Amino acid sequence: MSLRNLKKIEEENLRTKAEEIFYELGLVKDLTIPIEPDNSAEKPKLAISFSGGRTSAVMTKLCLEKYGDTHDIQVTFANTGAEHPATYEFVNECDLNWGFNVVWLEAVVDPRPNKGIRHKIVNYETASRNGEPFEAFVAKYGVPNRTTPQCTARLKTEVMESYLKSQGFLRGKKLNYTTAIGIRADEIGRMSSVQERENFFYPLIDVWPMTKADVNRYMAQFPWDLNLPSDAYGNCVFCWKKTLRKLCTVAEKNPEFFEIPDRLETKYGDVKPGAASGPDGRRTFFKGHRSAKDIIALAEEGQFTKYTDPEWDIASDCSESCEVYSDAAAPEKILI
Ligand code: SF4
Repeated sequence: MSLRNLKKIEEENLRTKAEEIFYELGLVKDLTIPIEPDNSAEKPKLAISFSGGRTSAVMTKLCLEKYGDTHDIQVTFANTGAEHPATYEFVNECDLNWGFNVVWLEAVVDPRPNKGIRHKIVNYETASRNGEPFEAFVAKYGVPNRTTPQCTARLKTEVMESYLKSQGFLRGKKLNYTTAIGIRADEIGRMSSVQERENFFYPLIDVWPMTKADVNRYMAQFPWDLNLPSDAYGNCVFCWKKTLRKLCTVAEKNPEFFEIPDRLETKYGDVKPGAASGPDGRRTFFKGHRSAKDIIALAEEGQFTKYTDPEWDIASDCSESCEVYSDAAAPEKILI
């Protein structure tokens, strides 16, 4: 399936219900509707990676409405066990209200060398909430940080690929599906340079171009909109890719969210030392070899600008969503 086909323009009267709403709200300027030639017995395959954020939810809704009948679609949510409780609620509400049919996945880490990541299927009730998948990953691969940014790949991308393979969605030379990724027009710098080769599809850039404000305005209509205290709490609450401004804002109010990274640094800081380690030979999560305890101490000192404006720190990796195939991107700049 070629991406070129996914970008062809169709008549406006083929807009879906969701597209009409976006059009009426003035959120979409140039509607482009992907079409697929119906010349094979098998439906084209489309994998949608739902990160649990608003952008990803809007992308998933639009794609399901547009391609639900014509494509074989799999929607997955890879749980690290370290999300804010509101994120789990939101994933579940999207599923219940919009029929996403989300497959909740978690990493299964084999501690033996040369054994890859596999997946297990969980659900809203059984999903880990105390960092269990994250801990299994760190125990084998070490604490992730700017030098060893592997957590998205190990805990999300490879987990999703393991599940998709079990459903006949193949990668490599046998690549037979497209992956929809929730990156918006105002995050265009996060697109992969190998998107053509890997069949990555960016609906909110190429088909329904939207900004963060567009997405927020749309989601605000729904009483079950994502109810995070602020965008600083998105994804793994303690994500090391977040700006120090966001991390300190979270730590000041909710130091308990740093118990997981503190536990992992204490138990596994000596796993795979090397370039990723600090002067003491141990790995920590945060920029400048800072530990979870350091972040809490910084927050207590209060010498930082609080994250109060959702327009801050937008166009940087994991600013609000942890997307698959994004580990190569640069972490956010150090901002405090
Ligand atoms: S949100 Fe951050 S910490 Fe969590 S998997 Fe993604 S990059 Fe890693």
